[in-house]
Amino acid sequence: MTMAAIVETRGLVKRYGRLTAVKDLDLVVEEGTVFGFVGPNGAGKTTTMRILATLLRPTSGEARVAGFSVHKQRRDVRRAIGYMPDFFGIYGDMRVWEYLDFFSACYEIPPDTRRRLVDDLLALVDLSHRRDDYVDALSRGMKQRLCLARALAHDPKVLILDEPASGLDPRARVEIRELLRELQAMGKTIFVSSHILSEIEEVCTHIGIIEAGQLVATGTMEEMRRLIQAHRVLRVGLAGRIDEAQAWLAGQPDVMGVEPVTGNGEGNLEVTFTGDDEALARLLREMVGAGFPVLAFREQAGDLEDVFMRLTKGVVS
Ligand code: ATP
Repeated sequence: MTMAAIVETRGLVKRYGRLTAVKDLDLVVEEGTVFGFVGPNGAGKTTTMRILATLLRPTSGEARVAGFSVHKQRRDVRRAIGYMPDFFGIYGDMRVWEYLDFFSACYEIPPDTRRRLVDDLLALVDLSHRRDDYVDALSRGMKQRLCLARALAHDPKVLILDEPASGLDPRARVEIRELLRELQAMGKTIFVSSHILSEIEEVCTHIGIIEAGQLVATGTMEEMRRLIQAHRVLRVGLAGRIDEAQAWLAGQPDVMGVEPVTGNGEGNLEVTFTGDDEALARLLREMVGAGFPVLAFREQAGDLEDVFMRLTKGVVS
């Protein structure tokens, strides 16, 4: 089944003076998915999200949200999205219910519907018990959930959430994750950023990795996990003949790269390997058979974070 793209960018570019923050970005987020937009600080996540939220004009290229152009149909885009920025201005001297009532009014939701809506939103983000407290009195995690409730007031199709889990303690992060799952079950498409993959990995159905303004990898979680399989990393320790072993390994099938281990890392050589377990056992057998003094031959435990680090290594200059 092919799903419809609900967020799409083509050749998107954003320059700040001489700095190109987003470079020719082609991105597709399908309807109903939770798309994790992952990259280190300064990669261009916030810039991309602000363009999608119509708060920033791109230098060139096109971006569409729910079928509307961020250039020509800004109002329609704004109605279709709920945006939660990385730094939010929150009105601390309002009561929690008032805060949501105020933003619902901004979306022209009539007063008689608003009361019920505010109750529903508070229940959704588990803040009903704090409805009469001042916003200032909430914890950071609660404020984050309140902002999410605000972004939901007009029942948008797409949520654009910029680092919603950042600065939260583990419990509050779990709460945000649970909330995202619930929102996906409600049929929302969620475009969520993080500079820590493991923070959002669990809830994402798709991932896009951005580095220096460019998308370096994108796909379903399953595809990304396969990418890990395709990027197995071995550490080989030798009692001697290291240069010779490096050249020999580089010539073997399924070996993508061999590099000397620098610093205090374990072993002498790091090998990127794309084969299965059988191929791995064969490589060891043949290496020993070729007379190399192998002391250690071990696969490094890989997770998505590792793959992400390796994928982005080549892009950063
Ligand atoms: P973070 O996780 O730190 O928020 P990010 O991936 O969201 O990072 P952006 O905030 O989009 O990255 O920044 C991308 C690049 O653009 C960075 O080098 C940043 O310094 C630069 N940048 C962002 N906003 C501006 C601006 N208004 N003027 C000049 N440069 C900017």
